[in-house]
Amino acid sequence: MPLHGSRAPAVVYRVIDRCHDNAVDDGGGKRVVPEALPLARTNAEARLFLQLQPCPRCGSADCVFRSTVVTVDGVLAGRYRGDCPGCGTVRTYEFRVPDEVLPPPAGTVRFGADIPSELMDPGVWLWYSDICGSRVPADADTLDEQGRRAARHALATALAAVEEVLKFLPSGVERLTRSACTTERGRAIYDREPARLTRTRLEAVRDAYAQRLEAW
Ligand SMILES: [Zn+2]
Repeated sequence: MPLHGSRAPAVVYRVIDRCHDNAVDDGGGKRVVPEALPLARTNAEARLFLQLQPCPRCGSADCVFRSTVVTVDGVLAGRYRGDCPGCGTVRTYEFRVPDEVLPPPAGTVRFGADIPSELMDPGVWLWYSDICGSRVPADADTLDEQGRRAARHALATALAAVEEVLKFLPSGVERLTRSACTTERGRAIYDREPARLTRTRLEAVRDAYAQRLEAW
């Protein structure tokens, strides 16, 4: 008899699937995963992570997720659930919630406090920063009000994302190592131009974005 009766199958992707190498056998054949949930420092970070995860069954990237706060194994967690429009799979992701919740700042973008992301590696943050930066037109004068708002948000997001890359660099360290990039996408960015993941270059990019944003 199935353990869960006749309920429709739902797929729960605790992002810890990536960490299953750490799983241990409890002696009874059951896998116990220590340090279960990865931290999502803000809702913005969790939503960006989800946006970058295609449906594992059909590859669609269009899932709309709704979030609730739940308790998982005694830990406060954000649960994001959505129905894949491509194949109908119920996709659920759970993240640990930080002890101190950062409110979204007005007029800028912030993905988290000053600790490195547990959801995305530095290469992915740089890749995403580049994408957002490329959405900012050189000439703002031609934009209508809505276009200006969108462009300003893209610029603020590009700035916040490059700040995320810098959080991976320990104080006094100039260069990120390739091993800091734990995903294929992150390593591809690193391999293309490792010099971009140095403090000097990253700070220059950050300052350029910050100056443009100030002048916007
Ligand atoms: Zn799907």
